[in-house]
Amino acid sequence: MKVELAASAGFCVGVQRAIDMALEHAGKNEELFMLGDIVHNDSVVELFKKKGVKKIKKLGRGAGRNLLIRAHGAPLSVYAAARKAGYKIIDATCPMVKEIHEAARADEKKGRIVVLIGDEKHEEVLGIKGSLSKPPILIDPSKPLPVRKLKQLKKVSIIVQSTQNSEKVSAIVSKISAIVPDVAFHDTICVPTKNRQKEAKVLPLRNDAMVVVGSGSSANTKRLYEISANLNKRTYIINSTRDIDPGIFRGVRKVGVLAGASTPDSIIKQVVSFLRSIDP
Ligand code: SF4
Repeated sequence: MKVELAASAGFCVGVQRAIDMALEHAGKNEELFMLGDIVHNDSVVELFKKKGVKKIKKLGRGAGRNLLIRAHGAPLSVYAAARKAGYKIIDATCPMVKEIHEAARADEKKGRIVVLIGDEKHEEVLGIKGSLSKPPILIDPSKPLPVRKLKQLKKVSIIVQSTQNSEKVSAIVSKISAIVPDVAFHDTICVPTKNRQKEAKVLPLRNDAMVVVGSGSSANTKRLYEISANLNKRTYIINSTRDIDPGIFRGVRKVGVLAGASTPDSIIKQVVSFLRSIDP
């Protein structure tokens, strides 16, 4: 098959930076801890395990230990608890996520109610919520709009999780603007996400089938899959070549490849050469 690989495929700057910071510290034989996986990708998680980076569910004794805050960021309470427990913090929060925290805090200080559009349980969303003094109104795009709650508000600031679907967000912002009299909108979907989503709207139209490489638990990978599947029914999400059944590509001459922000180049390369080897 002919393969068209999206120019945006591979780690985003924020994920690359967090991985580099973690490997730099792991390489110094320092004890490095993390509250959860560095990224939603099995092969990266495996590499980190081999390097001795420890994943923890709760903060324990921190003296002499490093705690890496992942690219998604964390609530202020995590920083405070980590310092209290004695950890040295290595903050790998993506600068673009930091900007979201700052925008939300600045508008909260101005007396605006913060409305956050994001996936309810995603770590980045929990981090944004936890960087504010009052809990924001959370709007999860997969759930109905809380119209009754919004009708009670006069002045809101809308902030968005960095990896949300631009089109869905625009539709939600229009609906909120029709309900609340004073709306300030911060389009905080990051540039790397926007670039990926742009390609996810083009490649499915000029290829017979699409492959999205990444984990189903990765927010931005799921979004790419949704956009692509909407335009091309023959869209498949895979973790690695192990998930590819060549039989599904019957009659496919051209296949497009998209990849999430947490998918390593090595996996993308393997997938591309495997797809090229398939004779439909
Ligand atoms: S998806 Fe965007 S905000 Fe999130 S880590 Fe990557 S560059 Fe940063």
